[in-house]
Amino acid sequence: MNDDCIFCAIVSGTAPAAKVAEDDLTLTFMDIHPATPGHMLVIPKRHSDDLLQTAPEDLTATMLSAQRAADAAKAALGADGVNLLNCTGSAAWQTVFHVHLHVIPRYRDRGRDRLVLPWQPNVPGHPETLAALGGQLASALS
Ligand code: AMP
Ligand code: ZN
Repeated sequence: MNDDCIFCAIVSGTAPAAKVAEDDLTLTFMDIHPATPGHMLVIPKRHSDDLLQTAPEDLTATMLSAQRAADAAKAALGADGVNLLNCTGSAAWQTVFHVHLHVIPRYRDRGRDRLVLPWQPNVPGHPETLAALGGQLASALS
């Protein structure tokens, strides 16, 4: 529990939210600024600032709840697909520092869904750069 955290306040019931689902470890509720109709957030009830600070048990439970939410978006809202998004750090668009997964239903109907890819697709990376960066990351992971 973090006293300054809006999502902790939602978990404790001191801030309002349109709740969708709840289990021992996670809470799913509607995003107040939906990117598309049915945009949900899934959080572990236990506070952690971001993905990198989150305990494996909470991460696992959050992903499993996101899978159920994605399934519900297709079954209940007729979504044609779903994007899962996590933002880690302000440079990556994180604005609420209680880890969360966005579950964003996607619709082929452009009247319901105006989202576009935030990067240019099909621009190949330079093979040497890919290999060099991959090598740096592999070293960090080994
Ligand atoms: P992010 O930029 O990944 O940190 O996303 C934070 C998300 O939380 C945004 O999409 C906000 O619209 C959403 N949000 C912020 N405050 C609330 C709230 N009180 N209830 C529901 N969603 C919220
Ligand atoms: Zn919190």
